[in-house]
Amino acid sequence: MLPVIGLTSRTLPFPANRKQRPTETVTRTYVEAIERAGGLSMMIPNLDASRAPDYLDRVDALLLTGGDDPDPALFGEEPHPNIELVDSRRDLFEIALVRGAVDRGLPVFGICRGAQLLNIALGGDIYQDIAAQTDSSLQHTQRRLDDGPWHEIDVEPNSRLGALLKDSLSGQSMRVNSFHHQACRRAGEGLSVCARARDGLPEALEKRDHRFFLGVQWHPELGGSGSDALFSAFIEAAREGDSARK
Ligand code: MN
Repeated sequence: MLPVIGLTSRTLPFPANRKQRPTETVTRTYVEAIERAGGLSMMIPNLDASRAPDYLDRVDALLLTGGDDPDPALFGEEPHPNIELVDSRRDLFEIALVRGAVDRGLPVFGICRGAQLLNIALGGDIYQDIAAQTDSSLQHTQRRLDDGPWHEIDVEPNSRLGALLKDSLSGQSMRVNSFHHQACRRAGEGLSVCARARDGLPEALEKRDHRFFLGVQWHPELGGSGSDALFSAFIEAAREGDSARK
């Protein structure tokens, strides 16, 4: 049996279909990355947070996909002038999924917004806008025509991420793509920053007392160094949990 990976989705209020009704979407690149790594994708539509356990009962791991900005009210702030679209229903649902996955020991992989969301779910917070709220002089919204690598990251020695990426690092460094204007600030409970950009901002967080709990600020589903290693380890963790339950 292929391990079932639950993928969180984005609700589009202005769908591309002719009926003009809201649409639940998952960007296909995530699905393809899961396929390549040997998992079976299952889209989880954005529902009331009370529905989270029903989905967690049916998946072997959780992938938090990218998307819009988390609601700053979740970490006690008013909206900054540079904040972009917010979907509070998605935020609350994903927070319930993350907390439930932690309780159950399910593998969790958060990408871009997903990394920020899992941090917020465990009590951390984020910069609502890097350019306005930090002294970073690094552009994290990449300005090139493709999805190729854009800036360096330095991976923490002795981190689990470092072990996963060992064949892709040069020294402790690697180049990653970057499509974000927000970044993790204070790490949530039990989380440690395991990679940083050269401006010092967190690029990855991990929870070391958990089988697989990783958030990365870049988009490995689009390819690039270490991408296959990350997805393979995630699917392997899902497979182990699946067989442990049977
Ligand atoms: Mn970045």
